[in-house]
Amino acid sequence: MNAKKISAVLAAFVLLQTLTGCKANEAVQEDTAKEEIPEETADAETAAAYTMDYMVLVNKLNPLPSDWEEKLQTEHFTNSIGEDVEVEVNAYHAYLDLKKELEDEGIYVDLDSARRSVEAQQKIMDDFTAEYGADYAAKIVAKPGCSEHHTGLALDLYLIVDGKDIIYNEDLVTYPEIWEKIHEKLAKYGFILRYLPEKEHMTGYAYEPWHIRYIADPATAAEITEKGITLEGYLGVAKETEPEINLGTSSLYTEEELNEMAILIKCQFAAWNGSELQSLTYAGDEKANQETLDFINELSEGTTCVKAAEFLMNFHSPRENSGALNPDADYKDYQWYLGCDEEGSWEIVSFGY
Ligand SMILES: [Zn+2]
Repeated sequence: MNAKKISAVLAAFVLLQTLTGCKANEAVQEDTAKEEIPEETADAETAAAYTMDYMVLVNKLNPLPSDWEEKLQTEHFTNSIGEDVEVEVNAYHAYLDLKKELEDEGIYVDLDSARRSVEAQQKIMDDFTAEYGADYAAKIVAKPGCSEHHTGLALDLYLIVDGKDIIYNEDLVTYPEIWEKIHEKLAKYGFILRYLPEKEHMTGYAYEPWHIRYIADPATAAEITEKGITLEGYLGVAKETEPEINLGTSSLYTEEELNEMAILIKCQFAAWNGSELQSLTYAGDEKANQETLDFINELSEGTTCVKAAEFLMNFHSPRENSGALNPDADYKDYQWYLGCDEEGSWEIVSFGY
């Protein structure tokens, strides 16, 4: 596990990508259109009979289809930092074409990670469980079966700038102008940017400029990109919404810190089965008091929180499969409690009324 990967794991912790969802949703999987590989991309290296559903949806609510791994055909290569990377065969050739066009414009990229098997993800989960216990592992490791990287169609790019490998997430985000140029070219090769800014409540992930997803058809990729929508929204499994986010004013927390808390909440909300987020509001400094902190520390197991915050959410529950929620109902001022430990890392401690 290299530093980038550790960094990614920590980022996952910070974002509290907890994996409450991941319920099998057969209907969604079946509804997704099965697409033949377009003739022009099925080159000599690709087996003639090979077909994959390039529009497959894998997220916190939709696990990898059970027959995916036995059908999957991949290519391996060694990246510039000497690691083996495995990519779905057609995604790999599309990536090489994209990389070539970028190089012609002086932009150099490589792949940090692409395909990760369910078994490999399970091993990471088992190792973390052995070392830190099941609760902690469940908090920071993506649930095996529910990572888009299982498909072989999700690619994490890194940059090579002035001959130097830029692999850490916190460094990669400092090159927005390079990412913008890369993102402009994705659709032409059948890729989309998967985790868009401000769409955490639908995708379950914070903005990742490096995580691209192969969907094969350039026209569909162009349509999704031009509309600025998510794969969830395009497939119709979640309503494409732009909730109102009110961070208010605070003398305790910076806007950046409040935004980080809001993203945590939105990422967790995305794992709820089809609820629609309407608004999220910081409840104010007066709610970030000792009483709230005591309440949070009573609930949070193990960690001692030194700071507290409350958010209020308005949302609408789904008509079907609403779980513990009333179906097709409006929820107003639903409460979210967050706590921050001594290291400065925020987490959601509780939500409800
Ligand atoms: Zn990724």
